[in-house]
Amino acid sequence: GALSLLGPPPGAPSCPHGPALLFVKNSQGREEGRRFYACSACRDRKDCNFFQWEDEKVSQTRLAAREEYNRNHRPSFTHRQNVERYKNFVLLPLSKRRFCQECQQLLLPAEWERHSDHQVLCDISTAQLKSPSQLLYPLENKKTNAQYLFADRSCQFLLNLLIDLGFTRVLSVGTPRLHELIQSKASQEDFKVRSLLLDIDFRYSQFYTEDEFCHYNMFNHYFFGGEAACETCRKFLHEDNGERVIMVTDPPFGGLVEALASSFKKLMAMWEETGKEGHSKEMPMFWIFPYFFESRILDFFPSFNMMDYQVDYDNHALYKHGKTGRRQSPVRIFTNITPSMIVLPVEEGYRFCTVCQRYVSSGNQHCEICNSCTSKDGRRWKHCVLCKKCVKPSWFHCNNCNCCALQTHSCEKTEAGCFVCGKAGHKRSACPGLS
Ligand code: SAH
Ligand code: ZN
Ligand code: ZN
Ligand code: ZN
Ligand code: ZN
Repeated sequence: GALSLLGPPPGAPSCPHGPALLFVKNSQGREEGRRFYACSACRDRKDCNFFQWEDEKVSQTRLAAREEYNRNHRPSFTHRQNVERYKNFVLLPLSKRRFCQECQQLLLPAEWERHSDHQVLCDISTAQLKSPSQLLYPLENKKTNAQYLFADRSCQFLLNLLIDLGFTRVLSVGTPRLHELIQSKASQEDFKVRSLLLDIDFRYSQFYTEDEFCHYNMFNHYFFGGEAACETCRKFLHEDNGERVIMVTDPPFGGLVEALASSFKKLMAMWEETGKEGHSKEMPMFWIFPYFFESRILDFFPSFNMMDYQVDYDNHALYKHGKTGRRQSPVRIFTNITPSMIVLPVEEGYRFCTVCQRYVSSGNQHCEICNSCTSKDGRRWKHCVLCKKCVKPSWFHCNNCNCCALQTHSCEKTEAGCFVCGKAGHKRSACPGLS
């Protein structure tokens, strides 16, 4: 059966990741199943096993136990404490600066003893402290929190693009590497851009102050630091009358687009409060996500367009840009900024289509019938007169299914939409996006 999300309802019970989300499981063809709450951040029960039927009566004892559990699952240091620790850490001579790789924690000399049988990095330089995304290992849990870090090329491209568009503040939601690049340049004299990082990865609180980082869950718009952290974010958005700020986000791809969209709308609403006789427009945003989520994203943000730029990652073998065995990255930028303003690098083969008024990949041919550059994946697509649209080069029109598909497809259709991309015709396990 397919899971559907019923939103973050008011008064939802909480797990260590903030308010749970309400789901319903529909078994094939049957009516609405029983609704239940589950963790917003963790798709894998192994990471957070929070579960409660919506209509379940929870005893006082269980409530108390749950609260205690949530308390015990807070990080061992608060953000404030981590900031203090950092101040002390940078005062140490190089020879006394250590980082425990097992605990993913900067160590003060008094703590060495306790980590003596752990893998420890020594002589942590100022440069290393300024690139925490290199120092910390990327979280790899597939379902919950796989961290795919931007390749330098893509990160630089994004920053230059933001600068060219005239932005001076970046709300970095789940983009620690972009944040880090901005932070590291902030010391340069003529560099005016600032960034606030919102991320669920609390390890970053060791390196950034409370004005630079908020511990945040983007699936339920939850600020772990409470009202004060929320206020930090609000103030950041409202500076300069809300002008020249953009939100950039690169969420995990594990689905739950509606949960992300609902949080991003709340961040946009926060920006809109700037007053000033009400903004007529939306807060500018880059949502970085695979192209096969296009229709899902446009459902929630009709003003968005998908750009052809292929975002590359360092630690993702498949999404790397390279001469040998190049696999094209499926990850794109979705934005509410006018497409013609998004200038893509010509030296990487992108060109401007004057009809579409946007930059497209080199393989993306303008189709005269569709009157648009129709390729989504960078390969040249072909027009099918029966489907009245362009399709992937590997597809053929199937008269049985009355649509184009791979020649090897089986003609029976699956009823429910795919859990990953929401499209009908295939199940989650066969989602073209997960290959
Ligand atoms: N390409 C980006 C990283 C994207 S990986 C870069 O290089 O900067 C996804 C990011 O989202 C990670 O930083 C991860 O910690 C964060 N993340 C994952 N789940 C999250 C959640 N529920 N709330 C907020 N951030 C989350
Ligand atoms: Zn949880
Ligand atoms: Zn075109
Ligand atoms: Zn066409
Ligand atoms: Zn067809």
